[in-house]
Amino acid sequence: MLDRELGSEWEGEDISSAEETIDEGKGLFLSLSFLVILLFSVSMAFIWYMIKPRLIGISPYLYTMGGIAAGIFVFYTLSKFTVTVLSVITGKNLLPFLNINSPGIVILICQYAIKIGKTFGISIDRIGNSFVHFNNSLMRVIKKGSRNERLLVLLPRCIQNSKCKQKVAEDINNCKDCGKCVITEFKALSKEYRFHINVATGGTLARKMAYKLRPSSILAVACERELVSGIQDTGSISVFAIPNLRPEGPCKNTTVDMDNVRDVIKFIHDNENENLSLDGKVSGAIVEAGARG
Ligand code: SF4
Repeated sequence: MLDRELGSEWEGEDISSAEETIDEGKGLFLSLSFLVILLFSVSMAFIWYMIKPRLIGISPYLYTMGGIAAGIFVFYTLSKFTVTVLSVITGKNLLPFLNINSPGIVILICQYAIKIGKTFGISIDRIGNSFVHFNNSLMRVIKKGSRNERLLVLLPRCIQNSKCKQKVAEDINNCKDCGKCVITEFKALSKEYRFHINVATGGTLARKMAYKLRPSSILAVACERELVSGIQDTGSISVFAIPNLRPEGPCKNTTVDMDNVRDVIKFIHDNENENLSLDGKVSGAIVEAGARG
């Protein structure tokens, strides 16, 4: 596995140009996604047209079978994405009908959406922001009714006040609750809802933590670029992503909308308690991996 520091995968990108606050709806990502699918379908048809004489030359049977296989592939890809979008729009999990357990197709499309968006001069941050909004809605649909949740909250180091000397990356309980950054609020929330928090000093460490604790859900706070990369990295783990706010520019004294954070944590917590009460069992902690302190 490649070692990387936060932001290193965007080498060549102008991180200093990252906008301070972005609030992009899901529409941008969806528009670019449909463009990706359209281009994909046209490319498949073009390739098919180009190799048609050669295939017929080998065997008309091969030509027919190849056409059917390509048609099924395109139809399946389109169906997967369409059902995923419909699930997000309706808020109902239509995904099991196509046996989709992970939003892999969305992640794949996102990579191409970013490339296409860049050709239109749309920043990665705007596309990433739109993507994480879509991703979060999808996660709510997928996680609705889930149980035995183990939540890991991953925070970037830049969320700690730059003048603070407390070693919160080692242990969040080292925070002295001075209130100069939101770490103190996360610490309080972790005690109330019992989840593990890790202040990640790099992408590799964040991934290691995810593999070590094996959470069922991650709530990640970071810049859009990191969030997109993190969602792609974590594979089968559900990631709720909240873009940070950057009042002093990127990577310094960043913060986050705590209402959004509480909303996601409450969603997971209430979801869990709802299930437990349905079973008539006593409600328990949402996280086994664990709050410390
Ligand atoms: S709230 Fe905690 S982490 Fe933030 S500046 Fe104060 S002591 Fe440091």
